[in-house]
Amino acid sequence: MKHTSLLLAFLSAFALALPVSAERPKDNPYEKYLIFWGYPDNYLDNQTRMAFQEIDRTLRAYPPKNKDCQARRMALTALDLLLHDTRNDKTPAFYDFINARMANMLADMQKGCKKGVKIYKLYNDGFIIQSPKTTVAIDLVPGGPETHPFISDSLIYAIAGQCDAMFISHAHGDHANLRIAKTFAARGKRVIVPKGLWTGIDPNIEQLLVADTAVVVPFDELNLKLTILPGHQDDMYNNIYLMTFANGITVAHTGDQYNEEDLAWIDRVHDTHRVDVLLLNCWVNAMPRTIAGFAPKQLITGHENEMEHSIDHREAYWMTMEKTRRMGIGNVLMSWGECFHYTPPKTK
Ligand SMILES: [Zn+2]
Ligand SMILES: [Zn+2]
Repeated sequence: MKHTSLLLAFLSAFALALPVSAERPKDNPYEKYLIFWGYPDNYLDNQTRMAFQEIDRTLRAYPPKNKDCQARRMALTALDLLLHDTRNDKTPAFYDFINARMANMLADMQKGCKKGVKIYKLYNDGFIIQSPKTTVAIDLVPGGPETHPFISDSLIYAIAGQCDAMFISHAHGDHANLRIAKTFAARGKRVIVPKGLWTGIDPNIEQLLVADTAVVVPFDELNLKLTILPGHQDDMYNNIYLMTFANGITVAHTGDQYNEEDLAWIDRVHDTHRVDVLLLNCWVNAMPRTIAGFAPKQLITGHENEMEHSIDHREAYWMTMEKTRRMGIGNVLMSWGECFHYTPPKTK
């Protein structure tokens, strides 16, 4: 009781000391005491920053697993709330959050991968797959405006430096970034792009799929077999990459696959390919049918919370959770900078 009345007296003294609104300073002079009276925007800024930090801590404490975790569901739903409130778009708290997560990811990548594959989720639909011998990036983009990208130049180039090659699914700017492609090419690393993209820029930037039939590329220098399937987002070429690493694990990435006619051959992918992990855009058309076509041992969705879309098409984490729950399909749902270490299930 005594403590409560002392606190009230203390806070009242501050309230009396606050200047009247006409003379109120622009910035809240009492922010450091966590008093926000008269400064609702300043209150919200602090709340957002605190919430981002708590989400980051929770996600680190409960890393991605292929089973349900209530703490992760809560953290990802809280993140949806922040990322669908446009007052938080492009704020310092947002930039700090995504860059802290990417710096954490870079530190983990530098430890390497001893068995299986480590699958890192980047911004939007970008992924990095690290195997014991080879590391590849797919649709690696910094996000945000060119003048102030979400992921800083120094971080994105350090991340790119850990990779041996990059594969681009299609020409949209949330998947294809020429500045990053040129960085790979300049270091002698191959960049595989869809038909018609970045023609004649650098010999290391190549369009391997030129007809509408699948191609298989033995990437001997990368200890990798790459199969490219001729997908589409509406009428746009959208390469679907199947990467088979030296340890026999195959990971498929669908880019922005969204096309009714392609479903006829997607239905049959599992006849000729044994897919361990399917990296699937979370808003693909015919989601259950597409998953059945690839028949992966593990699903990992991507493309949630694309911040350049309006909030109705940012595709919240909770929506993916609800879609996969309704389908009864297990999914490893990750946020930016998280890692799932996949090792094939033991055969009896
Ligand atoms: Zn697209
Ligand atoms: Zn996209």
